[in-house]
Amino acid sequence: MTPPQTERSGSVIEVADLQKTYGETTAVDGVSFEVFEEEIFALVGPNGAGKTTTVEMLECLRTPSGGSAAVLGRDVGTDARAIKADIGVVPQSFHTFERLTVRENVELIGQLYDDSLAVETVLDELDLAEWADRRFETLSGGLQRRTGIAMALVGDPAVLFLDEPTTGLDPDARRATWDRIEALADRGTTVVLTTHYMEEVEQLADRAALLLEGTIEAVDTVSNLIERYGGAIKVVVRADGRRDEPTADDAIGEILAADAIDTYGTDEGDLVGLFEDRERAQETFSRLHREGGDRAIDLVSAGMEDVFLRLAGSTPEPGGDLS
Ligand code: ADP
Repeated sequence: MTPPQTERSGSVIEVADLQKTYGETTAVDGVSFEVFEEEIFALVGPNGAGKTTTVEMLECLRTPSGGSAAVLGRDVGTDARAIKADIGVVPQSFHTFERLTVRENVELIGQLYDDSLAVETVLDELDLAEWADRRFETLSGGLQRRTGIAMALVGDPAVLFLDEPTTGLDPDARRATWDRIEALADRGTTVVLTTHYMEEVEQLADRAALLLEGTIEAVDTVSNLIERYGGAIKVVVRADGRRDEPTADDAIGEILAADAIDTYGTDEGDLVGLFEDRERAQETFSRLHREGGDRAIDLVSAGMEDVFLRLAGSTPEPGGDLS
């Protein structure tokens, strides 16, 4: 369900029936969505779903085969130059001048723009001031990624595109990067990111689009997606490494299936029942505890992982592959 758009602030990106084919391959098959001012918008989906192709058409790096896309009110087909001047792009595998310092790298990009931001301001915003004189090659992965964001930011873009911004980072570096991205959105930058981390979507994104095989399966606020497709709450019958994994056909599974709005198995062999009603979930949980013998059974709030499982049928793996 798309939120009523009259209640939202201005639209920064408008995509209508966008298509891209490579010979016989249809990479993007009629995608439509909007990105609103100052929000963090996530494109999620498995490897090969068409995320990169979609984003690269918005960045004016690839030409659409059909449909339309406008960034900041300008058409990607005819106004590429103006769009490129107003956006920042941080690719996933990001490299820069290894032997230059953080500050020198940011300065170098700043010089390309007439109206660039002050380098020190940008370094402060990304919490990079104390590493400003360190050579890029000596930095950790998290600091390198943040240097990339600083370089994309120094031109004062209205829209920042981040491709898998925290892939490969440890949890602390990931959290620090999320904090910085959130601060950018708070001060008015619209952020479009691609990711396969459902936790990243929950922590960071206001809205998300789930892309599967070149089409959008769902686009909405993260909380609406979870409510609509994740179920408000889950009852999870754990496999716990046992050989007799729970299934929808055994006694426990039948109870769960009868009460839940939907059930599915996870990659770990757990059996999950989705509930919209917390009280009903609680009742089923208690009943399963009475009748489930020594099975481990949990009551868990639903999240984006459940949305992905429900719509895509499996969880995304690092790198975006479906497992
Ligand atoms: P994602 O970013 O979601 O992993 P991509 O946009 O990279 O997906 O790819 C979508 C589909 O388009 C895939 O099947 C991919 O193999 C194909 N594809 C992407 N780029 C090209 C290209 N330059 N030439 C031919 N096929 C491509």
